[in-house]
Amino acid sequence: MADFKLTYATMFNPPEELHSGFDKAVEKIKNNMGQEYGMFIDGKEIFADDKFDDHSPVNTDWVLAKMQKGNAKHAQLALAAARKAFPMWSHTPWQKRVEYLRKAASLIEERIFDLGAAMALEVGKNRMESLGDVQETADLIYYSCYQMEKNEGYIVEMGKDPLVGYEARNVSVLRPYGVWLVVSPFNFPHALTGGPSGAALAAGNTLVIKPATDTAWIVRLLVDCFRDAGIPDGVVNFVTGPGSTLGQALVDSPEVDGVTFTGSFDVGMKMFQDFGKRNYVRPIILELGGKNPVIVSKDADLERATIGILRSAFGLQGQKCSAASRVIVHEAVYDDLVGRLKDATSKLVIGDPTERGTYTGPVINASSYKEFKDFCEEINQGGGTFLTGGNVKSGGMYDKGYFCEPTFVTDLPFTHRLWKHEMFLPITTIGKVKDLDEAMRIANDVNYGLTAGFYGSPEETDWFFDHIEAGVTYANRPQGATTGAWPGFQPFGGWKGSGSSGKNAGGHYYLPLYMHEQIRTLVK
Ligand code: NAP
Ligand code: MG
Repeated sequence: MADFKLTYATMFNPPEELHSGFDKAVEKIKNNMGQEYGMFIDGKEIFADDKFDDHSPVNTDWVLAKMQKGNAKHAQLALAAARKAFPMWSHTPWQKRVEYLRKAASLIEERIFDLGAAMALEVGKNRMESLGDVQETADLIYYSCYQMEKNEGYIVEMGKDPLVGYEARNVSVLRPYGVWLVVSPFNFPHALTGGPSGAALAAGNTLVIKPATDTAWIVRLLVDCFRDAGIPDGVVNFVTGPGSTLGQALVDSPEVDGVTFTGSFDVGMKMFQDFGKRNYVRPIILELGGKNPVIVSKDADLERATIGILRSAFGLQGQKCSAASRVIVHEAVYDDLVGRLKDATSKLVIGDPTERGTYTGPVINASSYKEFKDFCEEINQGGGTFLTGGNVKSGGMYDKGYFCEPTFVTDLPFTHRLWKHEMFLPITTIGKVKDLDEAMRIANDVNYGLTAGFYGSPEETDWFFDHIEAGVTYANRPQGATTGAWPGFQPFGGWKGSGSSGKNAGGHYYLPLYMHEQIRTLVK
């Protein structure tokens, strides 16, 4: 694999080694499923009175792990451990912190097959997407280390003020806030836990991690990498349990100095309001949903557009915040594109995501599965036509898991609410417009502004970049119309209802979000 760098844009032609390593890891896990895992607080395994079984969405008979149903008491324990460790960790030289984190990232890479196989079984991501999530996590952590080094710990000599008879030195130092809370979603459980965690830790904060309940096991395996890197006790704490109780107790605690939340708009907005009810304002980084448009002009390369749209609409079953959920097409190429999308979709393999040939696996849980059926019914009632899909899969192995057909919808009026609502499922609506101005108006007329794609002539692409309201934008990209960002190449973050900080993860401006500035003036 010497010359191969795994990213979401390069994953389509992996070396054979990736397949054989992954196959072996799946077998190993399947022979060893169902073990109990603790929470991890102050370097210790902590068990709750209540537990829950973590089922695979591929086959709900498979219990992957037994996990702890933590409560408010565990939230307080984890926060207290993080508070106690903060003076030590924040005064550990940043060079040493970076060393620990590089070690953790290298352990993630060493364990990539085991972690990737567990990811496929727990999230239902296909194998390359699973391996990608793991590699992205290591790369996000490396990127925070690199930024810390490149900026020499964010210690900057300022100008000398013109004092008469005195000499002064002014230094700006970025310093950690304290205890940082990371709440992550199910769909990129590693990258969206490990990325913010790596940044918070490099900056000198201590951590409490609360994963999505659907992906508690795989995040615990990531926490093991931090532990095994030798990061001192209490610096990284991990609790599992319901967002509505355990998560809420964390958000309501005055012991939290900063938060990174990645998840839905509704939960994120509530968290923003609850977190604001304190004696002073604390930082909260919100990475929320999307309703990402693709605009296809009459001068588009339709072959590229077809493959890029297909990948972004149905990769991870449409459960990406960056999924292409709206396709807005110039009428001159509409029939041609729609025909191509129909053909290409019919060739997608739906099945067990651990298997090599599978492109789409199951959706995450029973409630998403039910929502898929409800949305299809609503689309039907609302005048939409199913170009592809429209049903759940049934028969054989499909009856054991949450498998849905990749669904393209045409004819749904632009006024229908599902043109604006994030469904987070393999359902993408396609609409026809008379010109690009109309396309842009529709593209921007949503609460979100995460990612966006465009296919058209080189002259049109500048116009697209200048007018689209989104934090991550792509033109003429066959690797994914709206998906597939990679740290260091496409820093990831949203505008409007898609994000709060205006600075993208895995980019230049991210790490400083985890620190506050102190200016130090010393008069000699
Ligand atoms: P979610 O339902 O909002 O849950 C996200 C996390 O919040 C989970 O860990 C959840 O725990 C927790 N939570 C729920 N209620 C809480 C509360 N009251 N207090 C504290 N924590 C609480 O999101 P999801 O279904 O996991 O993920 C899908 C969403 O994430 C989509 O909207 C997607 O667009 C968005 N997303 C955004 C980005 C981005 O970078 N912008 C990336 C990925 C995903 P439980 O699981 O225990 O409920
Ligand atoms: Mg959820």
